[in-house]
Parts: sequence; C-alpha cells; structure tokens
Amino acid sequence: MTELTSLTLAEARDGLRGRRFSALEITDAHIAAIEKARALNAFIAETPDVARQMAKASDERLAAGQGGPLEGVPLGIKDLFCTKGTQTTAGSRILKGFVPHYESTVTSQLWRDGAVMLGKLNLDEFAMGSSNETSAYGPVKSPWRRPGSNADLVPGGSSGGSAAAVAARLCLGATATDTGGSIRQPAAFTGTVGIKPTYGRCSRWGVVAFASSLDQAGPIARTVQDAAIMLRSMAGHDPKDTTSADIAVPDFEAAVSRGVKGLKIGIPKEYRVEGMPAEIERLWAEGAAWLRDAGAEIVEVSLPNTHYALPAYYIVAPAEASSNLARYDGVRYGLRVPGKDIVEMYEKTRAEGFGKEVKRRIMIGTYVLSAGYYDAYYVRAQKIRTLIRRDFEAVYAQGVDAILTPATPSAAFGLAEMATASPVEMYLNDVFTVTVNMAGLPGISVPAGTDASGLPLGLQLIGRPFDEETLFAAAGAIEKAAGRAELPAAWWA
Ligand code: GLN
Repeated sequence: MTELTSLTLAEARDGLRGRRFSALEITDAHIAAIEKARALNAFIAETPDVARQMAKASDERLAAGQGGPLEGVPLGIKDLFCTKGTQTTAGSRILKGFVPHYESTVTSQLWRDGAVMLGKLNLDEFAMGSSNETSAYGPVKSPWRRPGSNADLVPGGSSGGSAAAVAARLCLGATATDTGGSIRQPAAFTGTVGIKPTYGRCSRWGVVAFASSLDQAGPIARTVQDAAIMLRSMAGHDPKDTTSADIAVPDFEAAVSRGVKGLKIGIPKEYRVEGMPAEIERLWAEGAAWLRDAGAEIVEVSLPNTHYALPAYYIVAPAEASSNLARYDGVRYGLRVPGKDIVEMYEKTRAEGFGKEVKRRIMIGTYVLSAGYYDAYYVRAQKIRTLIRRDFEAVYAQGVDAILTPATPSAAFGLAEMATASPVEMYLNDVFTVTVNMAGLPGISVPAGTDASGLPLGLQLIGRPFDEETLFAAAGAIEKAAGRAELPAAWWA
C-alpha cells in the first residue's frame, strides 16, 4: 500500500473519485509513512485519529457520489494555522498547550472540500527563520542528503516541516505561509513547488500573525498542478479578514497547461547578486531558454530598488511582529510562568516562552517603532516599500507578464552550518523573495534542476497582482521542460 504515498495529489484525487482505493487506505498509508519518518521531525503533532475519522467520512461521501474537490486527500498543516481541538504552537514554547476553539478560514475551506488532516507540521518559531532551526520543537531534517554523505541538511524555513513532509511523501500537500520567503525558499530547497499568492488572496483569519502586512498562506506540493488544486481551495474572500480580497477565485488547475506562447517574461538585472554560485546563474539562463523555446518573449527589465528590500524588510517585519507578539503575556494563551506580581509574571513568561530569534525581532521591532527612531527607520522603510512596489508596477506597465529569478541564492545548507553565523547571513536567504512580499505580489518557486552535488534548486516567477494563473502557466512550462523533480531516497524509513 506504500505506493499510495507516491501518487501526486491529482492522481490521488482521481483515484479516490474512481474508487480505486479508499480515503481510509490512502490515509493509513500516510500515517504509516509518518510513523517511520520521525527522524525528520517534520510533525509537531500527528493526528491519526482525526485523520481516520475524516477519511471515513470522506469514504461515505464518495460512496454517495458527493465528494468535494479534495475529497479524501490527506494533507499536512503548518502549525501556524489554528485547528479547532488540536494544539497549535506556532513552533513556540509560549503557545504550548494552546488548543484553539476555532478553525482558520484556510483550513476550514480545505475540510469543506473534503481534505483529511494528518497532523501539524513543524516550523520556525512564529515563522521567523530560513532553516527551521528556531523551532522550540527542534529542527526539521531535510529528506535530502548529498550523495555519499550522511550529513543532515536543513529543509529551509519557516515552512520547513511542510516542505520536508511533502518531499518525503508523508502527505500529498501541505499548507504553508510566507512573510518573506517561507513558502518559496523551503520549496526550492526540497524540490517541491510552493506558491505565495497575492496579498489578500487567502484569508489570514486564524493564522498566527507574524507581520500582518506581509503574511500570506499558500500551498507546498510535489507538482505545479497539485499546488494549483490546493490553492483553489485555500483562496477566497473572507469577511473575517478585512485585507482579504473580494475577487473571484479562478480554476488555477486549468491554467497549468495553458502554455506561455505570447507571454513577455522579464529578467531583472538587479537579481544578479555578487557571490551567487555559477550553477544558479546557469539554471536561471536555462529557465529563460525553456520559456523562450515554449513561445515566450524574454526581455531584460530593471527593478532598481531591489537592494533596499532586505534591509527594509528587516525593519517592517520585526516592527509588525513586536506589535503582534505583545498579546503573548501569560494571561490569554498557552504558557504562564507565575511571578510575585503581574509584571514579573509577564517577564518570566516571555523570558521562558520566547526563543532567541523571536526575542531579537521583538527588540528590533520595538526599537524601530520607538519615539525618536520611528521616522528614521520605520517611516523610511515604508517609503522604500512604496518604491519597490513602483519598480514592479513600472515593469508590468511595459507589458511584462511575469518575472523570472532564482528562488534562492544557494541550495540547502547543512544543519547548524548557518545558525552559528551572524543572523544577517541567514537573512540573506530571502534576498530574492522578500521583494515580492514587500510589493504584495504573487510568487511561485518551481524545481528546475540540481546543483553539482545533486541537491534541488528552484526558479521563482513573480506575477501581477491576482494573476496567479500566469504563474501556474509559466511554472507548468518550466516543470515540463525540466522534468518533474526527483524525490529523495527514503534513508529515514
Ligand atoms: N526568513 C524570513 C524571516 O525570517 C521570512 C520568514 C517567513 O517568510 N515567514 O523573516
């Protein structure tokens, strides 16, 4: 039955509809795979009982010919999405024991469409990180290893559990979130597909907030088609989130095979950063050639404010985080460490509850928002943000349909290799992805090849607001040319 875990989400969906196997069978196959893969630490909570119950209900609906678009499809959920009755930790000690009595809009739409929840996936604490090493529940190990080596690699972050679980065939797809690159970077590191939709495409209601003006939910899956299927269920207007857009959700799956004939694809010269490995350059050129061969026109474009994006992001994101995380005070959620009075209780709770990276962000954020520094840092960062958005608008005004860049400046690195360096070193992982969040645009990472040691590399496509369809079409063309990413050999099972 293990081969059921190797199906794509689309194949599984069709197989379930055709009653070739049951939801319970495919769910049990994944539960068994998860139990054998605990060495990866991809899950914070496994929920096999919930999964079997949901699968049985799916089987009943399928038998009655009533299945939804994801009926019986087993998924993993990043532990940043509130799930009713199942602990939600955000990868933090401070939320240990927090069991929401409500369901996030995104997950409730997945369940509405018939999906099955296998468990809650590990992540960087409050989604702050690029390697999954800031999680209070321990780092996630990538299912990938360099050939002939037993050294553990990171799966990327913050959606490292999601990317690792999808690549390791522990679920058919997973939810993820992206504030500065947390869907696209782990997808690139693990040979999976990840899309951060336009800001406002998915509801943020019930998703633990990191930086509210940048946070977006999206899927990680093994194929472009699978990501398109998942996003359709996750997206849509939600009156409970005032930033969610009241725009119809198209049939993203139909766009995947649309092709790129006649599309204008921009190559931004500012993304050619110093010290970038030659193989990333090569992959990027190859990606452009594939799109050209498929009928697209390739043009060089300029996004002149690109090099300000990372420093501006590391002002805006911590500022919003420091405000959002003020709610964790030991009174309302999760952990409480008693003190002699309320102030000491706050201090002790936060000292014990938050990890080092989260504390660093709260300190930076509080500093840049404080009187006297607000104008010098926060206001300037917001102005840069406007300039970055205008750069993109100018390029799209020239008739460019999508922009092609590398997804990350390198392949996956070793566990603990980067964590010991300065935090700025780690922040550089987001150099190609944060611009997209700053501008609120959609971005997809698609596997496009491997580095010299055989590790996956991804290309990123950036689109116009609410034009995820063009991204699916272009990513589909790259996937077709590059061939679907290989899956890692199961050394952990
Ligand atoms: N790596 C970035 C950060 O640490 C982005 C994280 C994210 O997208 N959630 O802030």
